[in-house]
Amino acid sequence: MTRRRKISTKRILSGIITVIILGIAGILGTNEEFINTISNVDKQTNSQNEQQIEFVAQEDLLIDFIDVGQADSILVRNQDKIMLIDAGTNEAGEMVVKYLQNLGITKIDYLVGTHPHEDHIGGLDNVINNFDIGQIYMPKIETTTKTFEDVLEAIENKNLTVTAPNKGDKIELGQAVGEFMTEPILDKDNLNVSSLVLRLEFGNTSYLFMGDAEEENEETIIWPKTDVLKVGHHGSSTSSSKSFLEQVQPKYAIIMAGKDNSYGLPTQETIDKLHNIGSEIYKTDEDGTIQMTSDGNTIQIKTTNNSK
Ligand SMILES: [Zn+2]
Repeated sequence: MTRRRKISTKRILSGIITVIILGIAGILGTNEEFINTISNVDKQTNSQNEQQIEFVAQEDLLIDFIDVGQADSILVRNQDKIMLIDAGTNEAGEMVVKYLQNLGITKIDYLVGTHPHEDHIGGLDNVINNFDIGQIYMPKIETTTKTFEDVLEAIENKNLTVTAPNKGDKIELGQAVGEFMTEPILDKDNLNVSSLVLRLEFGNTSYLFMGDAEEENEETIIWPKTDVLKVGHHGSSTSSSKSFLEQVQPKYAIIMAGKDNSYGLPTQETIDKLHNIGSEIYKTDEDGTIQMTSDGNTIQIKTTNNSK
């Protein structure tokens, strides 16, 4: 009896354990199914998103002055070619990546870091890590900031090389032709003047991207008349001299600046000078992201913030 009872106790115990194990397995099984269902939904959603954001080549030239606050980031597209001039601050890097990904962009043919200040190259490492990169252009000047080191590390990790363009070097972006206009001034005490300055021609239209170039750079050449000016150094009074603006005569002036930025940019002086030569002014701090489209003859401008 004692023995039997022992056996039966064991049986009961093992029965209970089996039930517990099956129960746990059941719960796990259910969970696994549940997780599978979620990941399937995820996959479906992702593939739907992928379909929606497939890259579309454009015959028009498209330029997006992306609102990245007190910083620069400009996306230029024609046909299947992509150029990004600057990538905003460290903080804006992920946003710039998302902006490009939402357009179905997977590769960047030309990545330009105008000069090594954080409000221009801060997001470059994010961009380099997330896209196939063709050519990288940066001026031949270095700093010791963490931001700059991060960019160099990202470049190195992908075995990319940097080209330091000279005055007169050209790039082809679909049907648009770009030219580096000035020899960067390599002054470690003022990195702004090392800015790469790029001018783009598309059909009968033209565009000048100044980075943070200053009057010192403006004085080095005679400027061709240009339809669109990305105003130098966020509209600071150290850029956009009267003489420079009279040569360029921009129909449209784009100022990239952050709302209520602590530098007080753009200055009223620059705004007045642009008004005086008859430029139509657009500002990212008020207009948000500014989207420009050209068929080679006309330029259309759409702003994303119409609350002003
Ligand atoms: Zn800047």
